[in-house]
Amino acid sequence: MSTPIATKVALAQVDINNFNPVLCPREIFRAYDIRGIVDENLTPAIAYTLGLAVGTRAHQENMTHFVVARDGRLSSPALTDALILGLTRSGMTVTDIGAVPSGVLYFACHYLNIGAGIMVTGSHNPKAYNGFKILFHFNALSEKVLQQIYAISAAQQFHYGSGQVIKQDVGFAYLDTIAQKINLKRPLKIVCDAGGGIAGPLALALYEKLGCEVIPLYCEVDGHFSHHHPNPSQLENLQDLIAKVKITQADLGLAFDGDGDRLGVVTAQGEIIWPDRQLMLFAQDVLSRHPGATILYDVKCSRHLAQVVQAAGGCAQMVRTGHSFVKAALKETGAILAGEMSGHVFFTEDWYGFDDGLYTGARLMELLTRDVRTLNQIWQSLPNSINTPEINIEIADAEKFITLEKLLASANFLDATLITLDGVRVEFAQGWGLVRASNTMPCLVTRFEAETQLHLEQIQMQIGLWLLSIKSDLHLPFYKGDEDAEITHT
Ligand SMILES: [Zn+2]
Repeated sequence: MSTPIATKVALAQVDINNFNPVLCPREIFRAYDIRGIVDENLTPAIAYTLGLAVGTRAHQENMTHFVVARDGRLSSPALTDALILGLTRSGMTVTDIGAVPSGVLYFACHYLNIGAGIMVTGSHNPKAYNGFKILFHFNALSEKVLQQIYAISAAQQFHYGSGQVIKQDVGFAYLDTIAQKINLKRPLKIVCDAGGGIAGPLALALYEKLGCEVIPLYCEVDGHFSHHHPNPSQLENLQDLIAKVKITQADLGLAFDGDGDRLGVVTAQGEIIWPDRQLMLFAQDVLSRHPGATILYDVKCSRHLAQVVQAAGGCAQMVRTGHSFVKAALKETGAILAGEMSGHVFFTEDWYGFDDGLYTGARLMELLTRDVRTLNQIWQSLPNSINTPEINIEIADAEKFITLEKLLASANFLDATLITLDGVRVEFAQGWGLVRASNTMPCLVTRFEAETQLHLEQIQMQIGLWLLSIKSDLHLPFYKGDEDAEITHT
């Protein structure tokens, strides 16, 4: 594998004198990444301090080199410059690959054989947010190491050195590598909706390279997210894509989140194929070559997914939500495929086991075009149920875990099983309801699935009453309310 020509450049054009280490707010250190609100608890000075702290922690493990990339948010260039400055002042060499999707950062780590990387991104979050996804030894950081980095920043005990910055473009290598692996049996006409996120330009280039006719929708990078929010797990963000697919009579619509690691799928008929149903197809495909393999899915996925995996001869295993937890479980179990309802899909067959919406879209098109059935026949073969997308309930960060604890303590269902891998999934005979705390947003995340609309509403009613009994001022979009219902306040 040839390495692209690298050019060494001077340190980023940031005035070093403007930066001194500052205290980093503890709340930006999340379960599996660092996330904050720009100019509130995330500033260039904090990014600089994080660079110093991450570099210091990396130095303890004899790492000397980071790959750094950023998404298309308005705040990302300044935060990235400051971060790189902190890293280099801690003695780390930085290969800066510019503004690319998260999947390209992960790819670059493997391609350049540099195990440490940082993606500056707010992912699917509102535009005021930004943050850092960090890799050590090719793996997402654990909560424990993130807390160690926080401790280094709080103690201000940094390792100092003098690193350099190398600018490098890995976009062509990324496109070539995928194009060598993925073969479409016939060209597809697709609409790509990047929602103004960073995935747009490379998604267009990739799918055209694979032979598709690609109709772009919001594929120019736009840090204002002027058209809709780049989060394909929310129904409203897929409406423009559905309309465009229908008008253009495309075969398929693909949508990406702000940093391109999640995929949304819309059929020619305008039906949304939520990620748990995408996973059914991916599972059937990989299990045809790897019978008996383990497939991981998160607590938000349909119960039909496990049945499909088992019917295809695989072993289905439910895991906690969150890309870092899923990646850790992939390593532990040796699973061949993993996926989350939010749209992250992880392939270890012929790929590196990281989540990349652009690659996932290519894999999807490959399996669809290899199938002798029409696309419509394939979609119709996937079992469906009455279900909801993720429904977020706003709640202060400080309150969400306490509310969940109280909820669990008061659980009293005679006719249900509780799965407490992540929040609580209440499994009834006819369906289930999930309540968990978002790792990245100030909200509780809920989802519901049932055999019939009536059962769905009954489950929503039960879960709604249960939530309101713990915290009566919650606004529950799924709960129609029942003025006669008795709500017990605790
Ligand atoms: Zn993302």
